[in-house]
Amino acid sequence: MPIVMADIPFEIVPLLDQYKVAEQSIQTLIGPISHGLCLECGGNCCQEAICRESIQSPFLNVLIQMQNLAYNDSYGWLADSGCRLRYGRPQVCYSYFCQEVMDKQPDLSQRIDGVIRAFTASGDHALGGSHLISVENLDELSLHKISKIIDKMNQVFHMIASTQSHPPA
Ligand code: SF4
Ligand code: SF4
Repeated sequence: MPIVMADIPFEIVPLLDQYKVAEQSIQTLIGPISHGLCLECGGNCCQEAICRESIQSPFLNVLIQMQNLAYNDSYGWLADSGCRLRYGRPQVCYSYFCQEVMDKQPDLSQRIDGVIRAFTASGDHALGGSHLISVENLDELSLHKISKIIDKMNQVFHMIASTQSHPPA
């Protein structure tokens, strides 16, 4: 479903849509190496202080508003079944895997790490030196910059597809 929200600049709607799909695709990619382990350990590396970064980011906040979830001041987005956010998670949530997860499929972990780095880098310098996630006023994003981020996100989709179609032996 495309994002429709009245209070955001319409120019960023395609970017929000694409970001959301990229995030969910990355979760699908990560699933085989982390899901069982992370559920088993109960999200030990999740912390409310990390969750809070998502509501402090105007861009992520738009994505979060679409999910109609209540933030818990003690546990953030963490529930017994794992993270409640389907998208709009702080990017650091995708950047860290404990050794146990890394050891499960080292080759695949390395390739996923490359995808996540590209995903994170796609928002670099969205406004001056600010990363997309840190931009305070989304109205200030230029069309040119939005289109450049979308281009970089398309490259991330290619990397995801290639990782999915060429799993390590
Ligand atoms: S990455 Fe490791 S420590 Fe973090 S939730 Fe998953 S299994 Fe637990
Ligand atoms: S946003 Fe989700 S994945 Fe990230 S720390 Fe919070 S509960 Fe964990």
